[in-house]
Amino acid sequence: MTLTGQLLIGQQTLTGDRDVIHGINPATNSPLQPAYAGGSAEHVEQACALAWAALDRYRETSLEARAEFIETIAGEIEALGDELIDRALAETGLPRPRLLGERGRTCQQLRLFARTVRAGEWLDVRVDTAQPQRQPMPRSDLRQRQIPLGPVAVFGASNFPLAFSVAGGDTASALAAGCPVIVKAHGAHPGTSELVGRAVARAVKACALPDGVFSLLYGSGREVGVALVSDPRIKAVGFTGSRSGGLALIKAAQARPEPIPVYAEMSSINPVLLFPAALQNRAEALAQGFVASLTLGAGQFCTNPGLVIAHKGPALDAFIGATTELIQRSPAQTMLTPGIFNAYESSVNALAENARARIAAVGQRATDPNQGQAHVFVTDAADFLADHTLQAEAFGAASVIVQCASDAEIRQVLEQLEGQLTATLHLDDEDLQQARALLPTLERKAGRLLVNGWPTGVEVCDAMVHGGPFPATSDSRTTSVGTAAILRFLRPVCYQDFPDSLLPTALKHANPLSLRRLLDGQRETAKNAE
Ligand code: NAP
Repeated sequence: MTLTGQLLIGQQTLTGDRDVIHGINPATNSPLQPAYAGGSAEHVEQACALAWAALDRYRETSLEARAEFIETIAGEIEALGDELIDRALAETGLPRPRLLGERGRTCQQLRLFARTVRAGEWLDVRVDTAQPQRQPMPRSDLRQRQIPLGPVAVFGASNFPLAFSVAGGDTASALAAGCPVIVKAHGAHPGTSELVGRAVARAVKACALPDGVFSLLYGSGREVGVALVSDPRIKAVGFTGSRSGGLALIKAAQARPEPIPVYAEMSSINPVLLFPAALQNRAEALAQGFVASLTLGAGQFCTNPGLVIAHKGPALDAFIGATTELIQRSPAQTMLTPGIFNAYESSVNALAENARARIAAVGQRATDPNQGQAHVFVTDAADFLADHTLQAEAFGAASVIVQCASDAEIRQVLEQLEGQLTATLHLDDEDLQQARALLPTLERKAGRLLVNGWPTGVEVCDAMVHGGPFPATSDSRTTSVGTAAILRFLRPVCYQDFPDSLLPTALKHANPLSLRRLLDGQRETAKNAE
């Protein structure tokens, strides 16, 4: 397919009239064709008008029709074949196997949401039937279902050009909820975005859905992004990226006459606790697992293990020694963009210059542009507690090991941490009591707690939580990965004393969708009618 560099506004392709961006091959710093001219406020206006016009029809599509649409998107993405992988490879520097895996994950994610849509549990139907004889007052017939919030603005992430970009988790969950989506493509991979955007637009057409169900815009976040978030027809935002970008969009959303939710995933250092017996019994194996997780994908994962916490002593020294050897052998890796590489360099330089931390290990030298070297730093709990900058996210393969003198210090370090996506516990049987004592703190701090694993590698499934207290996300009640992500884009509506003929299909007395409703306080097990 020939890339055109054009905006996709519904089924229309338009050329932007703002500054041009090119995809950049980070391995060579060379620009890629074509040029992508940014959209303007007028393009945002057109996309929002179309999305608004599509809303009422799209949100009342049958469960089957909506599920088929989402599956059609997955099929269209797969049909792009190698062209998609080749372009993503050129734009991101990510290795081919990683991109093949990410495409698989993206399509599996879409199909999982199709399954979720079909099952209809997300409608969360609740029925309290009328009690005309109730004393002293009769009870009305009350029925609740979830409806979509309205058009959603999605900001594609730089570090997942497929799974968290144009047809990634935010888009899939919003479309599943019944919300039209307008994506602001990430400037790091415009060609990949165009290919996927066109695949989604083809699915919209093939399924005979209204044009405005999907649009794709390019351009500066400060113009297109803020205009999108400020448009009164946009009712929610999905974002993955930097803390400053997320906060800017939250501010714009809150400054509107009608504020809207922004589901922003921003910054997390994912603490890993090494408990004494585990450290004593397998320091070397822990170091191997740690370095593999830390250096995976040049460390450009939101779940990267950026902080290790353990008791000071010979066992931790052994872990640091083994880690140092492995890090020193680890090759420098191409990062996603020159901007992300520069931000990583600034972060590790700041840590290197910080008198409260020392460098334990640095990876092999870079041989090509934009290659990040892995870094591990060591500090003491007292220093960590005294300097908040030691817990700033260094997006890349950098981690800080905090040596603690006592259980009390470990608890203090944990209590002082900001909100996290994950917290990991490495423990053996002898450590269980100590781990149990820390669980209430860890639950308050993180969205996902892991035992004897590593936080990178987020399963897309029903039980996943990829969220957590600020600044991991802007709303700790939700997840951006897994089927529960659909709940971000829904709100309840109650229908009181509606005649059956006027009720939405999901709420009708005969339960034509065979939903498992909460009927007069009992969760239905069989697919029955009233
Ligand atoms: P970013 O700079 O936050 O950009 C993400 C998106 O938000 C882009 O589309 C960007 O538009 C837009 N944006 C940024 N600032 C904005 C503002 N003030 N107003 C409106 N829109 C704005 O993130 P990035 O480019 O992916 O990476 C930069 C840094 O983000 C990394 O170095 C890392 O620290 C962090 N990061 C964290 C995670 C995580 O999961 N924790 C993931 C990725 C990145 P433009 O195209 O105009 O910039």
